[in-house]
Amino acid sequence: GDARPSFAALIRAVADFPKPGVLFRDVTPLLADAQGFADCVAALAAPWRDAGVQAVCGIEARGFIFGAVLARALGAGFVPLRKPGKLPPPVLAVDYQLEYGSDRLEARSDAIAPGTRVLLVDDVLATGGTLAAAQALVAHFGGDVVGASVLIELEALRGRERWMGEQPLHALLRY
Ligand code: IMP
Repeated sequence: GDARPSFAALIRAVADFPKPGVLFRDVTPLLADAQGFADCVAALAAPWRDAGVQAVCGIEARGFIFGAVLARALGAGFVPLRKPGKLPPPVLAVDYQLEYGSDRLEARSDAIAPGTRVLLVDDVLATGGTLAAAQALVAHFGGDVVGASVLIELEALRGRERWMGEQPLHALLRY
């Protein structure tokens, strides 16, 4: 059914962080709970067990935590998609717009071979700009994005509308 998984209770809502008016979802209490973290990773992996995922791309920074464990659970490799200037060259990059200003995601220039079946992972889907940029970056490599999983979808921000194509975008929890 649609019952909330019990690990949902381990996610803390913090008002006015990192700036006034934002209700920040803090997943660190969930990470710290052995049973909650295990249940969460099992739920993230479930839809992808038979999807032939070859690489999980996790988005800096919390996407690294969930993505790396998910990669192990699926028998896939892990590729970090990083904020600018963190990876040594050569890199491929995509720029994307934020509400104020812009940002960039980078990956090592030979991190994803053409045709690789890629799953994208992040903790939170908010406006969707970050996940859309990750999708564009993998496409730039010629990778085959089989879908994405996020722990949390903030539905009011309508990030799902920025997801391209018919591949599934799964969210374990919606607020
Ligand atoms: P978007 O590009 O607006 O969808 O923002 C998504 C990115 O911002 C993700 O990488 C998230 O880690 C981060 N983010 C946005 N809102 C939250 C939140 O409430 N908690 C934790 N991370 C968030």
